[in-house]
Amino acid sequence: MYARAGEMMNAEYARNEKALFFYYFNNNIGQRIYTCESFDIVSHEVGHAVLDGLKPHYIESRLPETGALHESFGDITAILSLLEQLDMCEAVIAHSKGDLHSPTFFMRIGEQMGNALGFKMGLRNADNNLRIDQVTEEIHDLSRVFTGAFFDILVEMFEQEVNLNKYDPAETLFRVGKYMSALVLMAFLNGPKRDAKFRDIAKAMMDVEKDNSRKNMFKKHFDKRKIFDWSAKPKPYARPRVIEGRISVCGTYPYVHDPEFRAEIESTFQLLDMNDNGLEDEGDDFQEQVELKVSQAANGAADEWRTIEDVEHTPLLEKKDM
Ligand SMILES: [Zn+2]
Repeated sequence: MYARAGEMMNAEYARNEKALFFYYFNNNIGQRIYTCESFDIVSHEVGHAVLDGLKPHYIESRLPETGALHESFGDITAILSLLEQLDMCEAVIAHSKGDLHSPTFFMRIGEQMGNALGFKMGLRNADNNLRIDQVTEEIHDLSRVFTGAFFDILVEMFEQEVNLNKYDPAETLFRVGKYMSALVLMAFLNGPKRDAKFRDIAKAMMDVEKDNSRKNMFKKHFDKRKIFDWSAKPKPYARPRVIEGRISVCGTYPYVHDPEFRAEIESTFQLLDMNDNGLEDEGDDFQEQVELKVSQAANGAADEWRTIEDVEHTPLLEKKDM
């Protein structure tokens, strides 16, 4: 990682160098802004590196949608990495008062760089209503459609899972974040080897999800974006920047060929599955049940689907006195 790679308003993942480059620039009032200090930008670039490890042909694709999926994966990584931190989940709940669509730092990707460019909602706003036929083929522009659908799904998942009598909403958000991380990773793993389109990954997300009502909920959000509509096309974008910076890279770590890596993602996903409602009882043996389920999962002994309530962190934030 090169934290101060030079003066430029950008950051990049470079496969050739197996490196992430973070540049710095001066904003309009002369302050020096270091992109390496932005959590969103760092996790976005790490997201590129991870996806390149999973699907090495995506970065070589000339299809705008495949490039846009790379960008969207970066932004989704930023959102989900934020939710890996319980204090951030608490901040999101506090700032939004539990309405995740109300404007907060949560949906704003790259606020500092966005501000420098005069954008009020960050470099990109994940909480948008854009359809595929309302944006251009420029991959960052186009990526907002997929990220927007993902964000709506995440929010609706949270709204379905929230249970104020039982759990702190920050804890629910944390668990939903974990679940969605595993689901998105599985979907990309199961996606096509090369030239993935939005609809391929959308379909893969729906295939990974076993619950029919959630599957339909996913479809509703993808349909709203016209992701499954073959006639909906982004507007042409002629500037060469579309391709630039995506091809000059080669040879990262091929995680995808590592069976242990795949097994780990699969077991995380099973561990977090929300279908099983077997842990409704909040009695004294709740902790025991959670520990049992978690240890079964760790031993690979349990092959039944498990619930999102099985996350080992649950007891820490459980509301006992409500
Ligand atoms: Zn990017």
